Amino acid sequence: FDIRQEQGRKGEKDFENALRPLRFGDFSGQQKVVENLEVFVEAAKYRGEPLDHTLLHGPPGLGKTTLSNIIANELGVGFKITSGPVLDKPGDLAGILTSLEPRDVLFIDEIHRLSPVVEEYLYSAMEDYRIDIMIDKGPSARSIQIDLNPFTLVGATTRSGLLTAPLRARFGINLHLEYYGPEMLQKIIKRSAMILKVPIDDDAAIEIARRSRGTPRIANALLRRVRDFAQVKGNGRIDRDIARISLSALNIDQYGLDEIDNKILLTIIDKFRGGPVGVSTIATAIGEDTGTVEEVYEPYLIMEGFIKRTQRGRMVTPLAYQHLGRPMTGSNAV
Ligand code: ADP
Repeated sequence: FDIRQEQGRKGEKDFENALRPLRFGDFSGQQKVVENLEVFVEAAKYRGEPLDHTLLHGPPGLGKTTLSNIIANELGVGFKITSGPVLDKPGDLAGILTSLEPRDVLFIDEIHRLSPVVEEYLYSAMEDYRIDIMIDKGPSARSIQIDLNPFTLVGATTRSGLLTAPLRARFGINLHLEYYGPEMLQKIIKRSAMILKVPIDDDAAIEIARRSRGTPRIANALLRRVRDFAQVKGNGRIDRDIARISLSALNIDQYGLDEIDNKILLTIIDKFRGGPVGVSTIATAIGEDTGTVEEVYEPYLIMEGFIKRTQRGRMVTPLAYQHLGRPMTGSNAV
């Protein structure tokens, strides 16, 4: 079972959209982020102004797209969605910007992947609601300045470290999303099960929650698979036994670690005797980019106590050895 493969599929996208909360009240967790946003949205509405440009950062699947959609709904304005890699040329961005109604929300996913020219083009749009566009071709080509409707840009990124300083400075609101605890994921799973009209027991929901890597997207994807087992192998109800049987049939690790998480731990143990080892060395060894290891994988492994950050680099903990069934040897035996 590979969550990354699942995400690309069309059915999975529709499924995700069906489960997406549409109001702050339906959105569980991220309490501080939500409380702040509620105040900013309310104030903007009261003044009849667009919300300040907002940057949401944090690992994939924690609700950045969902929150930006909620912001638009709560403001009662339109919502347009695009992403950094899709915006090839300034002209692509100009087309979207000129189509925005007053106070609309424009969501740019993976904003750290904007090309430098497109990014620069965005600056004046964000700052002065104004852009330059080229008209005519050949010798009579010239650029004219046009005014945009005031709008809110919501940028999302898994890699806030890659954002340039000038872009970062143009966001008035900057919020970080954290991994969810099992109880919060349990609540999200129960809500999703209700929408899907599949009965689920509390202890089954928590079982799925614990193996969801702190991530609502993974929780929902697992629920979808477990539902299949309940309908085919059981009586349609998801109880704890069905949840356990399906999760083990799907090869879901007891802690919800994915393939890359396990690869990181095994690499530190097998190639670097448990560490300490620098993060860029780990990244090279597993063929990932250093920033991705640092901002996407490592935070969860540290939070769950599998890795420690030390002055001389990363070290795995006894829990990692135990989890992977590796004996602790030599200098690393604690
Ligand atoms: P991101 O944009 O951060 O990658 P999404 O907003 O696309 O994540 O969320 C992924 C899935 O998880 C969506 O189906 C969404 O409905 C669900 N989800 C995310 N956060 C929550 C939450 N706090 N409560 C309920 N469902 C959530």
